[in-house]
Amino acid sequence: MSVKGPAPLIDRFGRQVTYLRMSVTDRCDFRCVYCMSEKMEFLPRSEVLSLEELYDIGETFVRLGVNKIRLTGGEPLVRRDILSLIERLGRLPVELVMTTNGSQLPHMAQDLVRAGVQRLNISLDSLNADKFSELTRTGKLDKVLAGIDAARGAGFKRIKLNAVVLKGRNDDEVLDLVEFARRSGLDISFIEEMPLGQISEHGRAEAYCSSDELRELISSRYPLMNSTEDTGGPSRYYRMADSASRIGFISPHSHNFCGDCNRVRLTVEGMLLLCLGNEHSMDLREIVRNHPGDSEALEAALRQAMEIKPEKHEFNLDEEPQILRFMNMTGG
Ligand code: SAM
Ligand code: SF4
Repeated sequence: MSVKGPAPLIDRFGRQVTYLRMSVTDRCDFRCVYCMSEKMEFLPRSEVLSLEELYDIGETFVRLGVNKIRLTGGEPLVRRDILSLIERLGRLPVELVMTTNGSQLPHMAQDLVRAGVQRLNISLDSLNADKFSELTRTGKLDKVLAGIDAARGAGFKRIKLNAVVLKGRNDDEVLDLVEFARRSGLDISFIEEMPLGQISEHGRAEAYCSSDELRELISSRYPLMNSTEDTGGPSRYYRMADSASRIGFISPHSHNFCGDCNRVRLTVEGMLLLCLGNEHSMDLREIVRNHPGDSEALEAALRQAMEIKPEKHEFNLDEEPQILRFMNMTGG
């Protein structure tokens, strides 16, 4: 006799939520120009979910059918004691993955594999040390390259590089980044910048570089073949005949990916964001703090949240950003 589990989380448009992106901190050792303003104020400790609260929310999602959790931030590896949370989540029946800027990987890559992180996304926007410092403001390229090396040797199932491409800043490095990924045996995704938070460093519309433009450029050197591969995220993948590396494109502007959206985001303040490009949200911190240990209250809230997940996002680069939270708050 089969024992039926709880009903899955399904929204009003029939989409099942199977993927949770969990931000474990809003803090970061970098200040990337597209993600943060130069001077950022971070949350006071009392407003941040404890590791225990993060675990309880993750565990409830898994019970309700989530099969993939991505830990992100801010920089997830600067959260104190993050390994203890990862070890606990790693014991759940879920694919545990992480997005990191790579700076802490030289000393943490092996521990992450041991704790159960299966796949890693590492952000890398430039291979030029000066440009890397300009884009990240406080990042050091050599540290991140050492982190990528450490990750390659640590035994992750798969590693993908992520590059946000800005016109006039790093669009001339796209082919070099592809070559680096091929040489290193890694996948790479190129991301269109999203208008999250007010920045003054550059105009988002002027810096916009479409995925189609990049795909054409890459195809001129490495013919790309369509691939139907799906890693459960928003990337569309292409293959090259002479390499195992895959090329992905994340295109919130040019190819809206809302129709098959399977994900929600948890900010480190405990707001469950139901869509990257809309403000629809539910306060889970209030629930875990008012009903500690009560998984039924949490479960009821998650089901209620399914009723307000919007159908799609609308980003418009020519207007003031409609979404005022920065990406480090959103859990990119
Ligand atoms: N600190 C980690 C990192 O940089 O990989 C994880 C968090 S970061 C917010 C996650 C991803 O979001 C990174 O790949 C970053 O490049 C991307 N990102 C940040 N701000 C963005 C924006 N405005 N538009 C598009 N991608 C953005
Ligand atoms: Fe930090 Fe990642 Fe945002 Fe860069 S993109 S500032 S590394 S959180």
